[in-house]
Amino acid sequence: MAEQLRLMTVHAHPDDESSKGAATMARYVAEGVDVLVATCTGGERGSVLNPQMDRPEVLADIANIRKREMDEARAILGVRQAWLGFVDSGLPEGDPLPPLPEGCFGLVDPEEGAKPLIKLIREFRPHVMTTYDENGGYPHPDHIMCHNISVVAFDAAGDPDKYPELGEPWQPSKLYYNSGWTRARMLALHEGMLAAGLESPYTEWLQNEERTDRGDKITTRIECGEYFEIRDNALRAHATQVDPDGFWFHVPMEMQQKVWPTEDFELARSLVDSPTPESDLFAGIRESVDTH
Ligand SMILES: [Zn+2]
Repeated sequence: MAEQLRLMTVHAHPDDESSKGAATMARYVAEGVDVLVATCTGGERGSVLNPQMDRPEVLADIANIRKREMDEARAILGVRQAWLGFVDSGLPEGDPLPPLPEGCFGLVDPEEGAKPLIKLIREFRPHVMTTYDENGGYPHPDHIMCHNISVVAFDAAGDPDKYPELGEPWQPSKLYYNSGWTRARMLALHEGMLAAGLESPYTEWLQNEERTDRGDKITTRIECGEYFEIRDNALRAHATQVDPDGFWFHVPMEMQQKVWPTEDFELARSLVDSPTPESDLFAGIRESVDTH
């Protein structure tokens, strides 16, 4: 029996799947890979970031609206999607920072919080998983917890002694962290814009020396420039979260495709033989899965 390759991407909020690794998902979907997005929270505490959507009736119904936005983005990307059922922590602001709201995702015990994800892994049986790095990629409590439960789940899902009530063990072969905002990428886009006589949206970003840069941790670059359009369409489907006139869409598509045509990942765990650098999330796995 022919088997399909399967990719599971774990994300904190609806919209994260469309801003981190979305073109990679679209490429793998086009190649016949079964792709499932696991969304930790409903994004209930997210602010409305698009001025055109910042209306009282939108805020009053934000949880439902974000579900519908996710449905639309899922259809555009051609992926499957599942909710893990946690409640958004919101991004704490102020000095000192206020405590996180009771019952939110950022406060769960990772061993407990991993349960719905382990169940989903054992049902979907992904060969490859992606999540965020230990700093969350960006320091939102839900992004950090997304990392925490993903690592617990990756390490436990294949162990018959762990969580036996959650289904037949399945061990994914590789775990990756999404990489996006590296200095090298920002600089390449910045210089591309300046060379074309355009205003760069990254000037301020590049002046902030305090950002930690993980560019040297990248092991895997996925060519996916021809899917950037799909990524942007999926992102726009999250209309409450994305300003169509904003930052994201300032760099012309052709320039992005020319200057930085890949999405990049850090290989965090591998149970197969896959020398890095690589150009395929399934390197070392394809050989052993009979897809014909
Ligand atoms: Zn998020």
